[in-house]
Amino acid sequence: MTEQDYLAQRQAVLAEAELDTRAVRAGQVRTAEGEHAEPIFMTSSYVFASAAEAAARFSGEQAGNVYSRYTNPTVRTFEERIAALEGAEMGVATASGMAAILSTCMALLQSGDHIVCSRSVFGTTTVLLTKYLAKLGIDASFVSPIDVQQWRDAIRPNTKILLLETPSNPLSEIADIRALADVAHQHNAWLVVDNCFCTPALQQPLALGADIVVHSATKYLDGQGRAVGGAVVGRREQMNEVLGFIRTAGPSMSPFNAWVFLKGLETLRLRMTAHSASALALATWLQEQAGVKKVYYSGLPDHPQHALAASQQKAFGGVLSFEVGSDKDAAWRFIDATRLVSITANLGDAKTTIVHPATTTHGRLSPEQRQQAGIADNLIRVSVGLEDIDDLRKDMQRGLGAL
Ligand SMILES: *Cc1c(COP(=O)(O)O)cnc(C)c1O
Repeated sequence: MTEQDYLAQRQAVLAEAELDTRAVRAGQVRTAEGEHAEPIFMTSSYVFASAAEAAARFSGEQAGNVYSRYTNPTVRTFEERIAALEGAEMGVATASGMAAILSTCMALLQSGDHIVCSRSVFGTTTVLLTKYLAKLGIDASFVSPIDVQQWRDAIRPNTKILLLETPSNPLSEIADIRALADVAHQHNAWLVVDNCFCTPALQQPLALGADIVVHSATKYLDGQGRAVGGAVVGRREQMNEVLGFIRTAGPSMSPFNAWVFLKGLETLRLRMTAHSASALALATWLQEQAGVKKVYYSGLPDHPQHALAASQQKAFGGVLSFEVGSDKDAAWRFIDATRLVSITANLGDAKTTIVHPATTTHGRLSPEQRQQAGIADNLIRVSVGLEDIDDLRKDMQRGLGAL
């Protein structure tokens, strides 16, 4: 058998493989060295066999590497793997999650266009839309992620993108991806889903009708808090536009970071299952504690969108939040009494993190905006890591003891 036949057969096997298999195998092309792990191509440029070949590569007439701002084999392996996991035609890697959202908007929108956005998106996404895209004449309206009618009502003739995260941060609100994809398509707009909290291991928005998925790879795709990166996946036509923007503007992923994310993807499903199991156990336990007022986690049967979450997700993810006592001081006392978990705003790490949203992640909002978003002063967010659940419960008990 020729090597080419072998590779073609391998490709066909992978195309039909299950998610766990794609997470470990998709995208890798072995070099002549026969390496088993994915190599890191730390090179900014590439050498051509002749002047004619250089010309053909630059013009795009011949496929191949040109310059690592837009072609790098390690980055390409990551792009193919995340696309394979999301069930997308093509993926494009970016320098960060924010670069993924910016690149999508810059590639697909123009001055005069309009975005309808969930009001419960990552705070920096809101700033990107209201401060920077607004300056370019791209307007945004903000609506409740859980009220489909508000999305319909916010649509204008120039609406091009509907943008959401589900579950939301930190209150675990669930947006109905199928319903909102229908709303988008009835108005010739695209539904863009930030799938950071679930990852493709738990939720595949494209299969539910979304057009584009964006990621902060910094969170669960890495999973161990090591590197900043992002990705956009979707149909080839739109992804080529996004790649064109990255090629021109330069928010590219470094090959080293791409390698870190490739290693992260190999264990993604195992980790997401473990994060979700511990978060559910902790949420259930917190709900029974006297000092806890309210727990926000879509895995709890009494969560208002529990059934919707169960229908579009395989599990409920690793992030939960809860209210303690009656004010900020109570929340701060709880946080400061913990000894195991890390006080940091990052999430999606093997290490459990704890944060007070009202004075950190949502601190830039006015008190009225916070109230509207449901971020109470006594709210605490926990991103549940991979430590032993008994030790996590004990640490939360220390917090409760300080109330
Ligand atoms: C962190 C985050 C981002 C931004 O990603 P960076 O990698 O930090 O730029 C976007 N969306 C969500 C949901 C996030 O949690």
